[in-house]
Amino acid sequence: MEDYKAIVISGPSGVGKTTIYKQILKEYSKDISFSISATTRKIRDGEEDGKDYHFLSIEEFKQLIDKDDFIEWECVHNNYYGTLKSEIYRIWKMGKHCLLDIDVKGGLNIKEIFEDKSFLVFIAPPSMAELEMRLRNRGTCVGEALQRRLDNAAKEMEQKHVYDTILINENVTIAVVELKKQIKEYIAQSTIE
Ligand code: 5GP
Repeated sequence: MEDYKAIVISGPSGVGKTTIYKQILKEYSKDISFSISATTRKIRDGEEDGKDYHFLSIEEFKQLIDKDDFIEWECVHNNYYGTLKSEIYRIWKMGKHCLLDIDVKGGLNIKEIFEDKSFLVFIAPPSMAELEMRLRNRGTCVGEALQRRLDNAAKEMEQKHVYDTILINENVTIAVVELKKQIKEYIAQSTIE
């Protein structure tokens, strides 16, 4: 399992990171698999338990913390989120690299643990005003929830320079091409053609 790597994708809510990495996962499905995090947040329309997240109660999540089953976990937007050790090993055992969609704190923890076996990608909006507009257009969060996401985004943006690479999502097609190129270079020793 020595050659397998962890690719971390972080970036503020509304930046479009899911759209970007889903295309990467689709194209590189033979070599990269998504690390399904555990969370205590409520399931959203269109999400599937065990596919998007392992949806757990707070009690269940805390039991896993006590059992030391997480590589990293954080409280994000008032909910718990964490990467299970078993999830990373499951992917590596399949002979694939894993891709994690986690927040900046989680990303930095992964870097500390996996060092050069991890590649940290920060996806940034062209501007904070553009991010706010995208979040408002989504219509899924308003008022306090919107403000919480914007405050969190500002904090994450301040830390983006510690990431291995920063990708500005001005145009999703260009961002995908660029990310594919960088990931390919990073895992150059792998089977990706
Ligand atoms: P959402 O609720 O919108 O799916 O995710 C909210 C935030 O939690 C996002 O920034 C996402 O990257 C982060 N997140 C999701 N899973 C994990 C995880 O396992 N660990 C950490 N640290 N953050 C996560």
